[in-house]
Amino acid sequence: MKNVLKWPSFMLVLILSLVLSGCSTGEESSSSGGSGGSTDAKGTIEQIKERGKLIAGVKYDTKLFGLKDPASGEVEGFDIDIAKALAKQILGDETKVELKEVTSKTRIPMLQNGDIDIIIATMTITDERKEQVDFSGVYFEAGQSLLVKNDSAITGLESLGGVKVLAVKGSTSAQNIREKAPDAEVLEFDNYQDAFTALKAGKGEALTTDNIILIGMQQTDNNYKLVGGNFTSEPYGMAIRKGDTAFVEEVNSLLKSMKDSGEYDTLHEKWLGSKPE
Ligand code: GLU
Repeated sequence: MKNVLKWPSFMLVLILSLVLSGCSTGEESSSSGGSGGSTDAKGTIEQIKERGKLIAGVKYDTKLFGLKDPASGEVEGFDIDIAKALAKQILGDETKVELKEVTSKTRIPMLQNGDIDIIIATMTITDERKEQVDFSGVYFEAGQSLLVKNDSAITGLESLGGVKVLAVKGSTSAQNIREKAPDAEVLEFDNYQDAFTALKAGKGEALTTDNIILIGMQQTDNNYKLVGGNFTSEPYGMAIRKGDTAFVEEVNSLLKSMKDSGEYDTLHEKWLGSKPE
């Protein structure tokens, strides 16, 4: 009698353990499939494919690289065309890209939060930033310079003692100018539109950032000139969540194929007026 009673409980334990092990396997696969943030075990490429679109963090205030036309609502520039080419490579359709505005200060947190898949936003590759994100290879070489009024007496870094210099928060430019011109008074703005508006309003005598961004500003107002040459090296890279090597390789393969096919040169000429040297 006792043995008969024990039989079902033994079976029960066996069944229960089978069910539990089955359950835990099911749970693991459903949790990795269901979550969607930066901690997702899935790589960015898989997330893009599942979603059916690439989400790129780009500038909205930087003529030549990423500028939103307030009339049409279109965002245009060198960085935007690279984002479209990446969507085409991954999804076969360059229109499958959602552009989200980033600033120099918000771009890394937005990438880390999972708000965007990639930063394509005039971003310099630095060792400090490499601690937080991974970078593609270099896709553009800029250098920091100064924008001043045509009649300004400022000729370069050596003239900045006691001068109010305008820069943007979170940029290498704001950091570098403090080192290169320690006697300047640096005023920081949230974005380049605000910084340029402040320069025009006389809130400072010079604006500092990458030469190519300053050239874009000068194209909209020829009362300003670049001075002081390039006093830093600013190699641009696309930033990717740390550890996603498959996505870094995908982006680097895009850069290589764009260079091999001549598409990179065409874009360079379209936005910057000449083929790369
Ligand atoms: N390339 C510089 C940087 O990454 C300046 C341009 C920008 O603020 O995006 O900080």
